[in-house]
Amino acid sequence: MPKVKTNRVKYPEGWELIEPTLRELQAKMREAENDPHDGQRKCEALWPIFKIAHQQSRYVFDLYHRRHEISRELYEFCLDQGYADRNLIAKWKKPGYERLCCLRCIQPRDHNFQTTCVCRVPKHLREEKVIECVHCGCGGCASGD
Ligand SMILES: [Zn+2]
Ligand SMILES: [Zn+2]
Repeated sequence: MPKVKTNRVKYPEGWELIEPTLRELQAKMREAENDPHDGQRKCEALWPIFKIAHQQSRYVFDLYHRRHEISRELYEFCLDQGYADRNLIAKWKKPGYERLCCLRCIQPRDHNFQTTCVCRVPKHLREEKVIECVHCGCGGCASGD
């Protein structure tokens, strides 16, 4: 979540190019948070929120690390302001975690039988071909899937 902004925030150069997309994602996020979730299981109600958070981090990550379209300063600014998840992005830089959906899916304590979530198991190693993990609704985020 972005921290509360004060008037003193100085927006780095290039901000105006990425602001519309970030604002749009933030609006979507607010919508998802305010959704009444009627008749949904509690965990399912959180899925859209994880999904949008992921999208937002991925957007900032790609701009800097893949497309090289924003400056280091602007990139750091986005992380500092909470527009992207620094911890999740740190994982994406590691081999095997390039497509990781969310940090919860690799928390050993959250999973009863295995050390990672079912969505981290490569498609060819699992019996079910179509899955949705309970944490974030991820349909599989192992590298190479
Ligand atoms: Zn996943
Ligand atoms: Zn998962």
